Amino acid sequence: MTTFAEKTDNPLRKIWEGPKIDPNKDKKLITLQIGDPTAFGNFYAAKESIEAIKNALEKDNFSYTVSSGLKAAREAVASYVNNNDKSVQVNDSDKCFDVNSEDVIMSNGCSTALEICFRALANPRENILVPRPSWNYSTWLEPTEIVSKFYNLDCTRNWEIDLEHLESQIDESTRAILVNNPGNPCGNVFSKEHILKILEIAEKHQIPIIADEVYEFFTFPGIEFYSFSSLSKNVPILTCSGLTKRFIMPGIRVGWIVIHDRNNQLNDIRKGLLNIAGRNFWPNSTAQIALTEIIKNTPKAFLEENAARVHDHALSAYKILRETPGLIPIFPRGGMYIMIKIELEKFPKFKTCLEFTQQLIREQSVATFPGYPCFNFPGFFRIVLTVPKELIIEACERIKEFCEQNCKQSEKYLKSG
Ligand SMILES: *Cc1c(COP(=O)(O)O)cnc(C)c1O
Repeated sequence: MTTFAEKTDNPLRKIWEGPKIDPNKDKKLITLQIGDPTAFGNFYAAKESIEAIKNALEKDNFSYTVSSGLKAAREAVASYVNNNDKSVQVNDSDKCFDVNSEDVIMSNGCSTALEICFRALANPRENILVPRPSWNYSTWLEPTEIVSKFYNLDCTRNWEIDLEHLESQIDESTRAILVNNPGNPCGNVFSKEHILKILEIAEKHQIPIIADEVYEFFTFPGIEFYSFSSLSKNVPILTCSGLTKRFIMPGIRVGWIVIHDRNNQLNDIRKGLLNIAGRNFWPNSTAQIALTEIIKNTPKAFLEENAARVHDHALSAYKILRETPGLIPIFPRGGMYIMIKIELEKFPKFKTCLEFTQQLIREQSVATFPGYPCFNFPGFFRIVLTVPKELIIEACERIKEFCEQNCKQSEKYLKSG
């Protein structure tokens, strides 16, 4: 095997596709693992999006599209981003900065957008700062020998970035700070003030930001989403997003990079991004043709309702898990997941969160992702909130039973009570 192949490791896929642990035969398996909202058929693309694809099929002659993507698609993304950023800009005309189609590069989903950014910004042995816990960015970084240097998110403060730690990780080989907001796996949504502080650090050290905002606007009622680009004055931002999460179209493979560079600091990087983007053959033509209509016609209510539904699921899960011995669920502010801390000292049978989650499958037929190895964060596990509500409730009840049976304290409690 080549070094590249050997070093390409996706811990999520490995658990998802790897050798299966036998569930309890008497209980139907409930899988709360993979972050695909469409998996259970209860979340799906807006009918307007499907209509847009049908219309596009009529127009498409299935040619290759130009190397950064179809101009109409790039224009649609540019105006989508400009409108979004304006909608949150607060009385500060100075901050208004419009991007145009030249600032957009289409990609095969958000993950390819991220990969293009990584490779355009850092050489082997240079580093990119990555949150911990986080989604598996290292899958793309490790094989290229770009170093992931981790900065901590603080579970006691709604998973905000530990800013001191972030700054301490910066060195002369740091080429970018990657932020993920709203975040996977934590469901963090940063406040405006917090984002401004992150931007301050980036500006002080002259480091661009890669903003993984694939969950943009997917926030719970009352919680505002601010994009990094809407708040940045001097820090160049490469925003990566797509149709996957907000528009609930993961299989369509449409993503994009938006280059926000109002002071033209990234001219050289911009050329690099285009070079690298030119290796791939962009998302399929039909989806790019449909993009203008998808963005324009998807009702705002559709987008808001989905987040509200996930919020309702989160409340149901939290209510049960909060009363579960040995667990501390951290209530999310957006996104599609909830992270749960395991007080491992109360579970003498399990040394790690991986063992905990494996035994949970064996006893209760509930499959979740352990914080380690999946998110580089031991002692936690993550559940997906987009499965049907009754399944979430059933799964959480089973998790509770599992903990009551395996938790040291509750054993004592049961005996003495
Ligand atoms: C789902 C997800 C992506 C990427 O999705 P694509 O399917 O490649 O569009 C990127 N970042 C995070 C944090 C995600 O959860």
